[in-house]
Amino acid sequence: MAFESLSDKLSAAFKRLKSKGKLTEDDVKTAMREVRLALLEADVNYKVAKEFTKKISDRAIGSEVMESLTPGQMVVKIVNEELTELMGGGEARLKMPSSGPCIVMLCGLQGAGKTTHAAKLGRLLKKQGHRPMLVACDVYRPAAVKQLQIIGEQAGVPVFEEGQGNPIQISKDAVRHARDYGNDIVLIDTAGRLQIDDKLMDELKNIKEAVQPSEILLVVDSMTGQEAVNVSKIFDEKLEITGVILTKLDGDTRGGAALSVKAVTGKPIKYAGIGEKLDDIEVFHPDRMASRILGMGDVLTLIEDAQTKLDEKEAEKTAKRMLQNKLDFNDLLAQFDQIKKMGPMRGILEKIGMDTRKLSDDQLNDRLVDRQKAIILSMTSEEREKPATINPSRKRRIAAGSGTKVEDVNKLLKSMEQMQKMMKMMKGKKGKRRFMPPMG
Ligand code: GDP
Repeated sequence: MAFESLSDKLSAAFKRLKSKGKLTEDDVKTAMREVRLALLEADVNYKVAKEFTKKISDRAIGSEVMESLTPGQMVVKIVNEELTELMGGGEARLKMPSSGPCIVMLCGLQGAGKTTHAAKLGRLLKKQGHRPMLVACDVYRPAAVKQLQIIGEQAGVPVFEEGQGNPIQISKDAVRHARDYGNDIVLIDTAGRLQIDDKLMDELKNIKEAVQPSEILLVVDSMTGQEAVNVSKIFDEKLEITGVILTKLDGDTRGGAALSVKAVTGKPIKYAGIGEKLDDIEVFHPDRMASRILGMGDVLTLIEDAQTKLDEKEAEKTAKRMLQNKLDFNDLLAQFDQIKKMGPMRGILEKIGMDTRKLSDDQLNDRLVDRQKAIILSMTSEEREKPATINPSRKRRIAAGSGTKVEDVNKLLKSMEQMQKMMKMMKGKKGKRRFMPPMG
């Protein structure tokens, strides 16, 4: 989990503060020293950490906070506010031009996640009702054009390419194409290098000159810590970026990049990459990230996930079938898929502020869901629709097919029976219901 060690250290510092009825100046100073150390260990830029804790001390060491009934809580509130401010305050949206397509240049070093995020962003924008188009301008790396075409297709976003041609010409042609075909967002995947060099920068400057982008988003890998911040600084000096996409926040990044990029470059983080799949991208919300770092959870993102990732029609269809007492294993399978769409159970629980480190994957039910899905997938369509036809020899076949035991199959059949019984009891009652299948 990202920010794990930082979260632990901050919560230890605040625990001591919260245990005190009244705070002295020394208490605040000691806590801020601990906070500063925690930030430095999380690879936050030295100057940023120093200024951050000074700001909090200045606000906290005042009669209003120190004489309040819950001074420790007040300090945590200030830290939350300042962390949010440090990461940019509010959500930074894409700037849409008043006319013509919004041209977005995606830049970054090789391996940062540029190509993946071009596709992820395209998919996200498409879901929001836009008509994005991807442009393959990384003409040097073998297979880069092909890679973009493949993930563009997976993301359901068209890809404009002219093979290994001239990237400046390609980007110009792409913008013309977008105007002709009504694409309102053009996402240009530019070439990356292992290191920053003049040739790369010149090419990017020339593309910028040629297409006058509304946004130049730098894709940086959060796992590289301070290096990500240095890279952002140099790209900004040379190209004047408009924002950052911070990738791989799902790994065990210490957090330094997320906390320092805005302070060092003045440019906001606009999106965060949180996994390898095409849906693993989030609009970066500084306030929610601050809450997550402080272990307060992020329920808002969870609700949004449910709204965007779950299929309302599917849920209604199941609810209807339940009310008609027609529930079968196909419905259950659809429900399992819905749960899976919300991502791993661990992520869901973390968003509601739970510490999941001590829970094993089995306890988190992810594998349980997988196992139950495997059992259903090993049934014939007749068996899924009419579970009563599943006799002992069929059970043995299903268990063997799904790599489970007959008792696992029995358990699942029993759950279905219980659900069907419940449905019978509910029959006649009106209204739509969502349900979560019992686990195990
Ligand atoms: P590029 O060279 O900058 O275009 O980088 P790619 O888009 O090819 O990504 C490099 C690697 O990082 C690939 O294996 C991606 O699957 C992986 N990757 C990209 N974004 C993320 C992310 O947010 N989380 C994780 N875990 N992996 C990512």
